[in-house]
Amino acid sequence: MSTEALEQTLVLIKPDALKLSLTGYLLSQLSEFHTGLRLAALKIVQVSEMLASAHYAEHRGKFFYPPLIDYIRGKLHYPNEPGRRRVVAIVYSGPDAVKVIRRIAGPTSPHVARDAAPGTVRALGTVVPVKEASGAVLGERMDNLIHASATLEEAEREIKLWFEPRDIMPYMRAYETATCEEHYYYKDGALLLEHTPGSIGLLAPGVKAWASDLAALRALTRGEPASTPLDSIAAKYLINREPEPA
Ligand code: AMP
Repeated sequence: MSTEALEQTLVLIKPDALKLSLTGYLLSQLSEFHTGLRLAALKIVQVSEMLASAHYAEHRGKFFYPPLIDYIRGKLHYPNEPGRRRVVAIVYSGPDAVKVIRRIAGPTSPHVARDAAPGTVRALGTVVPVKEASGAVLGERMDNLIHASATLEEAEREIKLWFEPRDIMPYMRAYETATCEEHYYYKDGALLLEHTPGSIGLLAPGVKAWASDLAALRALTRGEPASTPLDSIAAKYLINREPEPA
């Protein structure tokens, strides 16, 4: 099986797009007909705090980080309806996938997109003031409908964060996989090798995992530093397991 030069990118259809019922429009903007890219994987995700904070780790500490986390988790668009808080996570595959999708998405800010790139998806977004408790405006939140990986390196990190290998058909997997030989469980931020009450199973012998995740889990087990934080490995295995608290 050849996965040579299979360029991939992650797209998230965000909760504002779902609320505006733009999913069909976005999927057709991103369709093979427009992009020449192939749909490699797709799932509807209830976004946990763990997944959101791993996805946006580079923005931690910025003024827009707390509303950004609430936004991607759907809490801002569905404050009273946890069951409607969804993101559609998609992997597209093909030549120049990152660039092609970024071009259709447009600039991060919907205001800039409307001025500089009309016709792009984000030109349909909105910008909302972010205020502190006193009411003073700290800056803007950008409800820009769609996420698109910025670089090939980011795409790999993000696809491995949101998808397990088995979410992607074998011919469409762009990154090395390996077969797990251990049992891994997760509880309260800790990695366990045996089940204890309240722990959640991540991986079992015989299951295919991203090779980089397995290397990181084995390093953590030996007490060595790992290239991927535990929460970034665990988050994908916890997707859609339990209802998120309201
Ligand atoms: P990025 O990691 O650059 O894709 O940004 C992630 C998300 O953070 C964007 O889609 C915006 O919703 C938000 N964001 C990025 N930069 C800013 C900013 N300067 N002000 C407000 N929100 C931002």
